[in-house]
This record gives sequence, structure tokens and C-alpha cells, in this order.
Amino acid sequence: MNKKEDCIFCKIALGEIPCDKVYEDDNFIVFNDIKPIAKGHCLVVPKKHYETLLDMPSTLGTEVIDLVKKQGLRLMKEQKAEGFNLVQNVFPAAGQIVMHVHFHVIPRKEGDGLRMFEKKDDK
Ligand code: AMP
Ligand code: ZN
Repeated sequence: MNKKEDCIFCKIALGEIPCDKVYEDDNFIVFNDIKPIAKGHCLVVPKKHYETLLDMPSTLGTEVIDLVKKQGLRLMKEQKAEGFNLVQNVFPAAGQIVMHVHFHVIPRKEGDGLRMFEKKDDK
């Protein structure tokens, strides 16, 4: 396992710090976001440390998409969501805070008031 010292998601993947785990297999772990922007908001995370999507091997692409679809469908059932967003931030300028690639799966309902991207009037 290529682990980066002081990476919080590496530590979660290795079970060194706890998480609210939803799913795990050889290559991925899924856990609930500690600060959910909607109930059920979860993160799909490769166990190996890749800083951003650009570092993650494309060979994991099918697996990650399958997993995102599974989680989205789960949230549509469990949370009675009517849809979901897949969010993937690449580099801090795009909002990436944890520098270990992860995919947000966010359940959505009509009229839930969530707005993903807003532009300031003066920019
Ligand atoms: P990003 O801005 O795309 O890097 O998102 C990082 C996400 O990780 C945020 O939504 C955080 O709330 C979440 N997060 C940070 N630390 C933890 C943790 N220990 N367990 C679960 N989620 C976390
Ligand atoms: Zn890591």
C-alpha cells in the first residue's frame, strides 16, 4: 500500500483512524463525509495514495464509476434522493482540501436549496 505520512485518508484507508464506513473492497473505501452538505453525502476513495485525479491510474476508472453508480443508487433508496451529484475537486484552486483523490457523492432532492457553484457578482 503506498501510504503518505500525515494523509488523513491514507490513515482512514488503513484503519488507523476511524470513519463512518459504508463500503470497502480491495481498492476502494467509501465513508460518510464528516461535514455532510446533505444527509448521506459520502466519499469514494482509492485506498492507495494519489494526490489528485491526474495521478490516479485510468485503469481504476471503471471501478470508480461502478462504485459511484452503486453509491448514488443506494442514496436514492436510503435517503429517498431524486438524484445525486458527483463532485471531484482537482487542486486547491478548485476546492480540493484533502490532497488524496476522492469523489463526493451527494444526494439531491428537488428544491433542496443546494447550490454547487456560485459566482461572486464582482468577479
Ligand atoms: P475536498 O474539499 O474535495 O478536498 O473535500 C474534502 C472532504 O473531506 C470535505 O467534505 C470534508 O468534510 C471531508 N473530510 C475531511 N476529513 C474527514 C474525515 N476524517 N472523515 C470524513 N470526511 C472528512
Ligand atoms: Zn493519502
